[in-house]
Parts: sequence; structure tokens; C-alpha cells
Amino acid sequence: MTNHYQLAIIGGGPAGLAAASTAAEKNISCALFDEQPAPGGQIYRSVESVPEGRLKQLGDEYARGKKLVDTFRRSKAEYFPETQVWSLNSQREIGILHNHDAKIVTADQVLVASGAMERPVPFPGWTLPGVMHAGAGQILFKSTGIVPSDGVVLAGSGPLLLLLAWQYLHAGVDVKGVLDMTPIINHVLALPMLPRALLARHYLTKGLAYKADLKRAGIRTVYGVSHLRAEGQENLQSITFKHLGRKQTIETDLLLTHFGVIPQIWLTQAAGCEHQWDPGQQCWRPMHDEWGETNIKGLLVAGDGAGINGARSAEHAGRLAAFQILYNLGVLSSQERDQMANEDRKWMRDERHIRPFLEAFFQIPKNLLATPDDETIVCRCEEITAGQIRDAAVKGHEDSNQVKFLARCGMGPCQGRQCANAVAHITASATNEPVQQMGLYRGRPPVTPLTLGQLASLYQENGQ
Ligand SMILES: Cc1cc2nc3c(=O)[nH]c(=O)nc-3n(C[C@H](O)[C@H](O)[C@H](O)COP(=O)(O)OP(=O)(O)OC[C@H]3O[C@@H](n4cnc5c(N)ncnc54)[C@H](O)[C@@H]3O)c2cc1C
Repeated sequence: MTNHYQLAIIGGGPAGLAAASTAAEKNISCALFDEQPAPGGQIYRSVESVPEGRLKQLGDEYARGKKLVDTFRRSKAEYFPETQVWSLNSQREIGILHNHDAKIVTADQVLVASGAMERPVPFPGWTLPGVMHAGAGQILFKSTGIVPSDGVVLAGSGPLLLLLAWQYLHAGVDVKGVLDMTPIINHVLALPMLPRALLARHYLTKGLAYKADLKRAGIRTVYGVSHLRAEGQENLQSITFKHLGRKQTIETDLLLTHFGVIPQIWLTQAAGCEHQWDPGQQCWRPMHDEWGETNIKGLLVAGDGAGINGARSAEHAGRLAAFQILYNLGVLSSQERDQMANEDRKWMRDERHIRPFLEAFFQIPKNLLATPDDETIVCRCEEITAGQIRDAAVKGHEDSNQVKFLARCGMGPCQGRQCANAVAHITASATNEPVQQMGLYRGRPPVTPLTLGQLASLYQENGQ
């Protein structure tokens, strides 16, 4: 690894891989840093190494990733797996943790392609062992083939929930039920977006086919579920929920929940990029132009980290960012850049026809985001409850940062990743203000935990 690259890419998902392969073709020095042991990101995790049988169970959309990863492997981009990026600033200095040592690398151009994370939504009992995110279940399945042996209940809202139920079905898992918490009214509210969504009808037909498979297999799907609670003493023992006004109980020791995904903005925030509230996606995202350029010179974003648009869009956005980077580096003229971008622009437009429909259909209702009861823990690291957050809000602490100062939520090792969104929603509802006025927790490096020893290794290397 050298200390300086023309291009540094953070993230080895579809966006980062497509950008790296495209840029490296033009013989610039290009490094890709990713915390995972192999390329693929969230969607194509372990795609190079999964056995044939599991590849089939995960579906053809997953298998598509092989080609992208192969192209990247054959490119001249330098690849640094198991490398955590813990800081980024506006001078494009990147703090990385590689082989347990900290190091600062600089780059003329930086592309942040750090993807998305699952939206954490606190509900009573969500901290009990046995309650996990659906994405965590899928990560175990993709990377190791581990699936629940004693059955599982899936609950929440969003396409990933349906996909995971389908993948588990094909892996022979006992899916005891899928509790769909999408409000029934969303089915109506999303209707005006349906004609445009039909232009990307392969997504709709795939979703309907998954549903039909689940139904044929006798897997119970309950629509319009509310008031989800996880119950148990030491571990999860059962869940309760309301359906058509009636309380129901399912005994289970594993509940996987999902409430959509939101961009990982910790690095763009640390670097000082401007962010905006996206009402459709109910989250913050970095502001950027059509090429992915942010307000910071030489710092671009692509993929779900720039706004949720799905894996195929991420790939096109990665390539578009690479064209712009090559232009910025003087490798391409503006005419060459525009000409090369034509195809990706067209495909990306086609891909995005489905997004307004998905956003309206899977819009998480405010009452779910903002009303966990007072005893529910919201900040898992510091064990701060919804009641303590409301208390801070009514004492006049009117935005997320003020609530953080008073209540200590967001001050633990995860630096607020798990609670930032929920705290904003709870504070907004307690103060009767729009959630976008709650602002973001201020982000400071290190954005991921770093030991003093690791930090000290930085200075040994510099001889200071
Ligand atoms: C848990 C989960 C599972 C998903 N599964 C599916 C699925 O099965 N099908 C589907 O269509 N969509 C899925 N999605 C949505 C999917 O992530 C995207 O649409 C797609 O992968 C986006 O591609 P990307 O390149 O933007 O980001 P990603 O694929 O998320 O890639 C980003 C990469 O950056 C790395 N990274 C992030 N921060 C750092 C850092 N600080 N230092 C080093 N590396 C870092 C991540 O580990 C990851 O490898 C999933 C999302 C999540 C959160």
C-alpha cells in the first residue's frame, strides 16, 4: 500500500466495484478499501465462495454479482479487504485500519460507496437475545450457510423481508410466520405510482412470484400487523402483536425484523459534506449532483450511501462517478465522459422507475418510528429509554444534539448509528416539530471504534 492514490474508493459493493473496474481500466492508481473479507458488499456478500446449492437458494439476483466481482478481480485496482475506514476529512485524508495498524492515506479523488444499513426501529423487547435484524440473518446465511434450526418469525416492512422469507423457504427453514407491518393504507397511497413502476415490472413480478411461492408452501403471512412486542425473561420466548384489533401470540426463540434500509452517512458527515432530509426514504443523505459530486472538491458518493436506489442502480452510479473522476483527473475530456456515461444513465433511469412506488408502499408510519413506550431502550450502548429522550425534549432540548448532551444517547461505541434516526423521530414527535428540524448527531472521527494502541501505531509509522 502506498500513501497516496489518484483515486481511493471506500466500499466494495456494486457501486465501489463498478467504479474501481472502470477507473482502473484507464491506468490511474486506484485503491479500494473494504471492511469485508471479500468483494461483493451487502447484496453479493461471499458470492465468489458460496457452494452451488446455496447460490440457487439465494436466487438469481444474487448470482448476478459473480460477473461484477470477476471483472473487479481482473482489474488493476489495488484491493484492501478487511480494512476499516475510521475517518475521512475534507482534505481527502483517509484514516484506515489495516492489519490491526492505523494509517493515513491521501487521494486526489475519493469515492464513498459505503452502502446502507438497516433502519433501526426500537419496539418493546427489541434488545432481548433472540431478536435480530433480518439483514443479520441473511449475512449469516450468505457468508456461512447458517440458518435458524428451530424456526423463525419475520416481522416488519420492506422488500428484504419478503426476499429473506423466500430464501429461507428454499433452504428448508421453518418460517413460522411473516408479520407484515406495512400499513394497509399504503397499498392505496402507492397506487398513483404504479403506472411508472410498471416500466420496471420485473421487480413487481419477482415480488409477486416470491409471495406465491410462500403461499404455496403454506407459510402464514399476516398483513396489517401492529403493536409488535418481543417477550421473555433472559431470552426471547414469544412475540405478541395486534391484527384486526385482536392480540395474537407466537412462541419463538428467534425474531428477525426489518424496516427498510438507510444510507450510511458517517464518513460523509465526518468529512463535512452537506446532507439533506429525504422525505420519501425517511432518512438523511449526502447532497450530490448527477455524477455523485458533493460540496467537497474531489469527494464523490455513489450507491445506497448516496440515497437508497438498489443494487443495480448502485452499479450504474459507481460507473458514472468513475467517469467524472477520470474527467476531474484530466484522463477524459467532457465529451468522452458524456459519451461513455450515456448507457449507464439510460439504465439507471429505467431502474429507478420502481423507486417512488416502493417508497410509498413501504413508507414506515410515524407512529411506529416515534412511539415506543417510555420503558423501551432506544440507545442500546448507553441504555437510554424513549422516556428519558422525551423527558430531555420536553425540558427544552429541542434537537437531536441537545438531547444527546442531556441524555447521553448516541455517546456509546456505535456513535449513534443505532439510535440517531429513532431519537430524531421521538424528539420531533415530543416537540411537535418536523423530523428534519431535529438535525443529525454531529459526526466526529473515529467513526468506528479504534483502540489507543491502534491509534498509536499511526504515530510510530510517522516517526512522531
Ligand atoms: C444487511 C443488508 C442486506 C441486504 N441484502 C440485499 C439483498 O439481498 N438484495 C438486494 O437487492 N439488496 C440488499 N440490500 C440492499 C443493498 O445493500 C443495496 O442495494 C446494494 O448492495 C447497494 O450497493 P452499494 O455498493 O451502494 O453498497 P453495499 O453493497 O452496501 O457495499 C458497501 C460496502 O462498503 C463497506 N463499508 C461501509 N463502511 C465502511 C467503512 N467505514 N470502512 C470499510 N468498508 C466500509 C461495507 O462493508 C460494504 O462491503 C441489503 C442491505 C443491507 C443493509
